[in-house]
Formats: sequence, structure tokens, C-alpha cells
Amino acid sequence: MKSNIIIANWKMNHSFDDVEPWITKFNQKIENSNLNSTEIIVCPPAILLDYFDEILLEEEFKILEKKGEDVEDLSQEDLEKMTSEIRKINLGAQNCSSHESGSFTGEISAKMISDSGCKYVIIGHSERRKCSNESDNIVKEKILISLKNKLIPILCIGEDLQIRDQKDHLNFIKTQLNNSIPKNQEIEDFIVAYEPIWSIGTGKTPTLEQISEAANFIQKELAGNIDFKIKNLRIIYGGSTNKENSREITSIKNVNGLLVGGSSLDVDEFASISLSVEES
Ligand code: PEP
Repeated sequence: MKSNIIIANWKMNHSFDDVEPWITKFNQKIENSNLNSTEIIVCPPAILLDYFDEILLEEEFKILEKKGEDVEDLSQEDLEKMTSEIRKINLGAQNCSSHESGSFTGEISAKMISDSGCKYVIIGHSERRKCSNESDNIVKEKILISLKNKLIPILCIGEDLQIRDQKDHLNFIKTQLNNSIPKNQEIEDFIVAYEPIWSIGTGKTPTLEQISEAANFIQKELAGNIDFKIKNLRIIYGGSTNKENSREITSIKNVNGLLVGGSSLDVDEFASISLSVEES
């Protein structure tokens, strides 16, 4: 059985009031299941990151207390060790600045994200490429700065419908990979999310063969090029996933999980996706 990674991208949805009910319900839904080999990551809007982390910690304290641990008496080090052992959800950000710090009004640095408890950061999502004109070069800078700050990048790539119709999608993906992933750089963990733009938020999912073709291609491109030095590469799929199609998609060889947009807002749906994937 493979281990999968399921990522919730809330985009610009939900607010402070939604965080605790979402986490509580998700934990209840998975409480009696053995969600052992699936890693769950939630990427809320940046303003919610700190609060999300705080609520996760509170939930973990409750679990430890239920187990008879006196959390008041534990050292900070022991507490961190114990909470990380029972942590079911990891945190990710939806974007980071390509700059270290400075006069960049409205931007959020990779260090700030890391300090907010994040382990992951989404980079180069097609919505950001479109709304903020993010080029592959900027995406590369963001990857470099996130690696420097010990964040695991989730690089989004994928073609639009016109490119797909012209059957030029593999060339397009190849260019995105080559222009945005830093070369000759030792990278411990890296995630590539194949997200064809025509499938994002449209309800149209590619066929399993189309997803498989892209995943195999990405795997070959990155493993077969000595300039890329990625130790743990995971390739995931994103675009109109739901509880009905998630299991078969994650059963595809070389697909190690999902990036879930719309379906992650409804916690019942997201929990069902996570549980169905566990069995794939
Ligand atoms: C996304 O935006 O990354 C995404 C996969 O969205 P959706 O699941 O809504 O298609």
C-alpha cells in the first residue's frame, strides 16, 4: 500500500469562526479509523495560520488529557514531542514571497510562514500565476526561499485547455519543470502537483489515463535528469476531486495524493476523501 498526501487548499474561503468546528469535526470523523499511511495537510488563508495552529494544539492537549497525561507538568520539549506524535493535520501556506524581507507591502515571507507552524507551502498555483503574473522564474525564487526556510514546496504545474487540445501538454509541463525547479541543489522533500487548469473548479476531471500519462512523465523528467537532485519526490493530482473519484485517482501508479480545492471546504467531504484514499 502506498502512502498518500491529501492537501486541502481553502483558497480565500472560511474565516476564524470556521477553524475550530472544521478541525473538531475532521478529528471526530477520523477518530475511529486508522488513517495511518495518509498525511493530511491544510492550507488556510495566511491570516488564519497562527490561529489554526493554536486550535490544533488545543485539540492535541485534550487528547493527551483523555489519555491521562498531565500536560501542565510536562516540559516544553516533552509536550512538543507528544503533540507531534499525535498530530493528524499538518499546516501549509498557499503562497510565500520571493523576497527574504523588506518593503513588499502585503507580502508574507517564507520565514513568517515557517514561524506560524507551517511545514509546507504551495507555490505557483495557476490562480496565482494568472492573478499575479507569476512567471516560472519567480516560482523558482519562491522555491529557493522556501527551502532555505525549511518548508517543503508544493509546486503546481499544468496546462490550459488550448494547450491540451493542441496536444502540447507534455512539452508545456516539461518547460514548467525545467524553468521553475532549482537545478544542482540538494532537495530533501519536494511535491509536484499536476493540476490541469481546465480541471480546476470546473467539475471536469481528466481520464485516469491522462493523469497517469502526466504523472509518469513528471516522474521520468525529474528522476531522469541529473541536474535535479530531489531525494523524496511525491507527485500528486489536483482538479475537481471529490469523494467519488479520489480513490481511483490515488490508485494510479506514481500518483501519491491529491490537492483538493472546493471539496476541502466541506469537512465531511474532505474527511470522506481522506478516508477513501487511505484504502487505495
Ligand atoms: C485547486 O485549486 O488547487 C483545486 C484543485 O481546486 P478544485 O479541487 O476546486 O478543482
